[in-house]
Amino acid sequence: MILNHGDSPVQAKRIFPEIPAPFNFQGARQEVFMKTCNFDGCDRPHKAKGYCCSHYSQLRRFGRTWSLVKNEYRFKGDICFVSVRSKDGFFKYEFMIDREDYQEVSKHVWCDTKGYVCCRDNGRVVYIHNFLMGVVPGVIYVDHRKRTPKDNRKKNLRVCSHMQNTMNCGKQKNNKAGFKGVSWCNIKKKWRAAISANGKYFHIGYFNDPIEAAEAYNIAAKTHHGEFACINNVQQSIGRRG
Ligand SMILES: [Zn+2]
Repeated sequence: MILNHGDSPVQAKRIFPEIPAPFNFQGARQEVFMKTCNFDGCDRPHKAKGYCCSHYSQLRRFGRTWSLVKNEYRFKGDICFVSVRSKDGFFKYEFMIDREDYQEVSKHVWCDTKGYVCCRDNGRVVYIHNFLMGVVPGVIYVDHRKRTPKDNRKKNLRVCSHMQNTMNCGKQKNNKAGFKGVSWCNIKKKWRAAISANGKYFHIGYFNDPIEAAEAYNIAAKTHHGEFACINNVQQSIGRRG
């Protein structure tokens, strides 16, 4: 018997009874989806090499896998410590918040950006100090009183202007004197103390000893910067010198 064009399927089946049932793509796909990730405690769908999409990506990029939990929280009294991971999944540091802020803070994923803690909200970077104080940066800023960005308890945060914020920043990285407001003057061969306030630059004086210059800066800072003054720790330097 020969199958002719236009024969009915019933007739076709009579001629070729061994025709296999069509491959069930839908069923096969569901089976793949039901397989989950091999990582302990991860129940995400399988992607490749036994892992889910995220764990497979970790393995491919860094050669190892780690928990997808980005922040871990622990409490000590009124303080909540939040851990931050580096890009390659290792523990980076812990930052502090008040226990009462835990609820709101734990709704986001926190990571490190150049020493400051931030999260992403609709693609926008939100720093934790602004988040906690409810400030959208622009006109108003939030300052860390003790210049410790890892301490985000409310008592270390205060709302300020941009100018006040710059007053409270520590000495610059390239500072050779070790004191804020003190620099070496190569022409006079002396240490020079200077301060800027309200957009103006004030010369304080020249000194033989950088500690003297630092003390002079401290006095000027208290008058010009008030409570936002960043005072040089002169005593500590004297102690170190012996
Ligand atoms: Zn996984």
